[in-house]
Amino acid sequence: MAVSVIHNLGFPRIGRDRELKWALEDYWRGDIDRAELECRGRELRARHWRLQAEAGLDLVPVGDFSWYDQVLDVTALLGAVPARFGWQGETVDLDLYFRMARGQAPGRPPAAPLALTKWFDTNYHYLVPELEPGQRLHLADTRLLEQTAEAQALGLAVKPTLVGPLTWLWLARDVDGRGQRLALLPEVMTVYGQLLTRLAALGVRWVQLDEPALALDLPPAWREALDAAYQGLAEAAPSILLATYFGPLGENLDLVCALPVAGLHLDGVRGGGELEAAAARLPPGKVLSAGILDGRNVWRADLDAALERLRRLRDRCRGELWLAPSCSLLHVPVDLDGDARILEAVRPWLAFAVQKLAELAVLKAGLSGDGDATAVDAALEKARAALAARRASPLVHRPAVAARVAALTPADERRELDVGTRAALQRGRLDLPPFPTTTIGSFPQTAEIRRARSRWRAGELTAAQYEDFLRVEIAAAIREQEALGLDVLVHGEAERNDMVEYFGEQLEGFAFTGNGWVQSYGSRCVKPPIIVGDVARPRAMTVEWIRYAQSLTERPVKGMLTGPVTLLNWSFVRDDQPRATTALQLALAIRDEVSELEAAGVGIIQIDEAALREGLPLRRAEWSAYLAWAVRAFRIASSAVAGETQIHTHMCYSDFNDILAAVADMDADVTTIESARSDGRLLDAFREFDFPGALGPGVYDIHSPNVPEPAAILDRLRSARARIPAERLWVNPDCGLKTRRWEEVRPALAAMVAAARALRANLD
Ligand code: GLN
Ligand code: ZN
Repeated sequence: MAVSVIHNLGFPRIGRDRELKWALEDYWRGDIDRAELECRGRELRARHWRLQAEAGLDLVPVGDFSWYDQVLDVTALLGAVPARFGWQGETVDLDLYFRMARGQAPGRPPAAPLALTKWFDTNYHYLVPELEPGQRLHLADTRLLEQTAEAQALGLAVKPTLVGPLTWLWLARDVDGRGQRLALLPEVMTVYGQLLTRLAALGVRWVQLDEPALALDLPPAWREALDAAYQGLAEAAPSILLATYFGPLGENLDLVCALPVAGLHLDGVRGGGELEAAAARLPPGKVLSAGILDGRNVWRADLDAALERLRRLRDRCRGELWLAPSCSLLHVPVDLDGDARILEAVRPWLAFAVQKLAELAVLKAGLSGDGDATAVDAALEKARAALAARRASPLVHRPAVAARVAALTPADERRELDVGTRAALQRGRLDLPPFPTTTIGSFPQTAEIRRARSRWRAGELTAAQYEDFLRVEIAAAIREQEALGLDVLVHGEAERNDMVEYFGEQLEGFAFTGNGWVQSYGSRCVKPPIIVGDVARPRAMTVEWIRYAQSLTERPVKGMLTGPVTLLNWSFVRDDQPRATTALQLALAIRDEVSELEAAGVGIIQIDEAALREGLPLRRAEWSAYLAWAVRAFRIASSAVAGETQIHTHMCYSDFNDILAAVADMDADVTTIESARSDGRLLDAFREFDFPGALGPGVYDIHSPNVPEPAAILDRLRSARARIPAERLWVNPDCGLKTRRWEEVRPALAAMVAAARALRANLD
């Protein structure tokens, strides 16, 4: 069968210059009105559609544009508005939509927004739908229909896309906690059916329903429900392309191949050999859409290998073969061209969204043999040359690094003494009071700090001037902490823009973009560094700052580092070696920094692993393999020090209970964790699990500007004290304080110190 269609599951809606971000923020601030916002959105959509059509796509996605989040779009579509928003209307207007997302909208009363959480194993966050007892649904938003008509009016062949019913429901939360949400599926399907009928009336031929939940371990009832649900939709006309991605479908593959849908999209990058398996299994006449390019990473594809694979696939298919990136391109930056910060040597190795579409067009032409053969050959040759250059580049291969990884022995991942013996030595050295107080590392990143940094980057401040400025900031942070009466101080991280980029910039093996923004949530974007090669640490990264901070005070100052697993999980990673290997290289770099801090007399070193948990594979069966190498990387980073040196680690989530054993295995002396929002579930886990090290369950939520009451903190501490031995309990906030203001931080920490003192007073 011929390749008839190339398409895209979604384009990065944020825009090359983050146009969507600026439009949204202007609107939220009240600087532009609704009409202007709508107008900017329309322009952005039209630009992205045209760009995709010009790249040769046969179908352009509609519905991938979202004012905030694609899951919230379906929530609005279904009218699943929680009661607290006081909604009585028939349709969800944009301001209600923003209130659900952010708790606020111009001229409307505030309300608690929906919860944000990670979209599968990506760094994108979606808004968690809430289903209330007796929840009713109806078609409450027609934006997808309007945008479809909008694209059609531009003369484009469109494919509306939206999150599918099963995935939406799976991601939703039953407010009453009874786990009955599957019962709502028929009602959800009714609304989807109505939507599809209306799309068909617009002349739409294909609709893409995204069901990444099929790559998860689903309970049997959910798997059974799928078939019945899609039976109903199949009758509603347009043809459905069921899109799955992010991992193999495993036991769900047969189920999905038998669904009454017209086409199936599979992730050819993370899906193992399932494209091939599905080609053989799909009934004749069904479309197989091959997610052949990596939608989660930034590397130029090996087009020869892709063509080879596609040729074999085409011979097996009994229906049309379509081509697409593996998943929505939401997860990669928009465009490589015009980004001045990317190293010229590295640029040819990369492909962002725009470049991936061009690759898709080459694959189609190469496979079908139609079109300009010379141009295809030239494109293939260019790809070959880039790949060859990357394979041979000294920016990628540092033989000394590989040799060092190969020479690691079990002794390198073990501290000499056990955690109990170390604790005794550390008590002797540090002489801390019971329930020692500390913070997680950062203090407010004030406008002044950010201004100084950007002036330094722009060359308006010399390095010496900028460093003088930072020393003043550090001195101020130390004074504040002494005045508050904290026991273990930090330097405050004023010099860090970002806990990953700061280290990446000082390590070899990383590359950076000037404009490689990826949406994190709503108008927030991140600019992940790219790990291009073997990682090495040419010089100390933090030692001077900590040494300076320590010189100002008698109290111990913690050295502050980002751990190897977090550096890995918050970067674009190499696709030419296993992540585990890259993690070990990062671990060795951090290990050297730890040793140098120790040699400089720093007695406490914190290695943050904020992102350890979010690297967990989607399938439980793969957790232990991931945790094994992640824990090993942490241990290599942390175990070169003497028993007297205290290693802290920090984790940014309370959802901790199911990986407790792995965290214990990291063998840190002190582990601080987010806990204020976990309703004691976290603490309960410590009743059953005898955690060997000391623990600092966060005593107040730093995400809120509210200043905690000392009594509330004391309550928390007492309940922690009932589960964690007194000599192993630390007192600290949930996370770093960089997003807060000093006016909030001062009273909050004062309350925390007061609570710790009250607890000490009742020690016996
Ligand atoms: N040390 C970092 C800080 O305080 C930790 C941040 C984090 O956990 N995300 O900012
Ligand atoms: Zn944190």
